[in-house]
Amino acid sequence: MQPKQKLLAEIPSVDELLKSPYGAKWLEAYPRKTVIRAVRETLDRKRKKILAGQSAELSGDEITRSIENKIKELSAYKLKPLINATGVVIHTNLGRAVLSGRAIENMKCLAGSYSNLEYELLHGKRGKRYSHIKDILRELSGAEDALVVNNNAAAVLLCLNTFAKDREVVVSRGELVEIGGSFRIPEVMRASGAILREVGSTNKTHLTDYGNSLCGNTALLLKVHQSNYKITGFTDEVPLEELAKLGREYKIPVMADLGSGCMIDFEKYGIHGEPSVQGILKTGADIVTFSGDKLLGGPQAGIILGKERFMQKLQKNPLLRAVRIDKLSLAALEATLMQYLDEEKAVKEIPTLRMLTQPIDEIKKRARKIYNYLKKDTGSYAVIEILKDQSRAGGGSLPETDFPTFVVSIKPSKTSVNTLEKRLREGAPPVIARIKEDALIIDARTVGEREVKDLVKCVKEALS
Ligand SMILES: *Cc1c(COP(=O)(O)O)cnc(C)c1O
Repeated sequence: MQPKQKLLAEIPSVDELLKSPYGAKWLEAYPRKTVIRAVRETLDRKRKKILAGQSAELSGDEITRSIENKIKELSAYKLKPLINATGVVIHTNLGRAVLSGRAIENMKCLAGSYSNLEYELLHGKRGKRYSHIKDILRELSGAEDALVVNNNAAAVLLCLNTFAKDREVVVSRGELVEIGGSFRIPEVMRASGAILREVGSTNKTHLTDYGNSLCGNTALLLKVHQSNYKITGFTDEVPLEELAKLGREYKIPVMADLGSGCMIDFEKYGIHGEPSVQGILKTGADIVTFSGDKLLGGPQAGIILGKERFMQKLQKNPLLRAVRIDKLSLAALEATLMQYLDEEKAVKEIPTLRMLTQPIDEIKKRARKIYNYLKKDTGSYAVIEILKDQSRAGGGSLPETDFPTFVVSIKPSKTSVNTLEKRLREGAPPVIARIKEDALIIDARTVGEREVKDLVKCVKEALS
């Protein structure tokens, strides 16, 4: 082994590399800052290896290759598309709803141009960004008025702060949920300045519990969608109709945080347990909030529906400015909502709805396609089969509902399933899959038709 000093002296200098033909090529194609950082970090790594007594490849080829890889790594965006093979349709960690083609088009169109975002073309004066989607939301939902904000957490916060600051909000103990990402009803309540008045017990809450809790300081009766969990067994909750009736009787507004909120009747597609927004409004709830990027299948947004006088009060709250929706989300939301005018088309063209309502035969066909491509030249690397399994809606919706699906199960023979999962996760594009009993599971439900080729390429690379 050569002495460390001698090895260290073999490492080229940053300057040498920048002045080499390679350096010139890099500097032409990439920002100087990026190139210098890549060269420095690569050389540093070599130096550290030598000092630690490990072997370091110092050939010119290896150094330039390492630098080029580093430049590419530094130049790539950190936020990037990936393939969701988990079968969880509304996956919060994976960016929730995939937008429809029309929503993407409209976003693009608005992004590179001035717009009438807050300008009334008819009168040539200042307008409101909230005006554009009021009509379509009213038409689709039957609500008297509508307002949209940044997300549903903001919608809930804004409503509580507007209607119940320093006053009591009555909520069942069975609905004090945490929906993940640290959104917890009691904490949001505190942040809004409202006072939480818990009633009932975890598994049972009766109308009399709500009735007995009312006092001069009660501002709101709140019903929260249980979202990602379900209480089963000896349970009782008060239907929204009855709560609304109680509210009317005592002149206390009733609010429902639906979480997902779906705008079509899922029962028609054999999906039970998620009442539609229209149905909820018919129960007589005064204010209804839900997300734009859960079951609706649109951009991140918080949608608030209800009586005009409530929406007007919300618009006077200075907090609204802090949680306002941005123009690109608004563009995507308007386009998505317009698609709901033709429900038959909507369930095919809005990816979230398409994935949830897709006939099982189509999923099976896609699984078979993935399987057939994979079968070719992976014979000795893995045991691959098509299996029946269950997908999930995700996004805190339909927690108990099974969505029968077909998956491609891959049992690698030359590497562990954990290594395979990790390689796929770190691939280009990354593929996110789950492990079940020593097999990697690729759920065909959430893999787009156009992603199949990339998916297959990544799996083959990761296996070999
Ligand atoms: C998801 C959810 C929220 C938060 O919605 P975001 O759009 O993520 O801000 C609030 N309440 C319930 C019940 C939810 O399921």
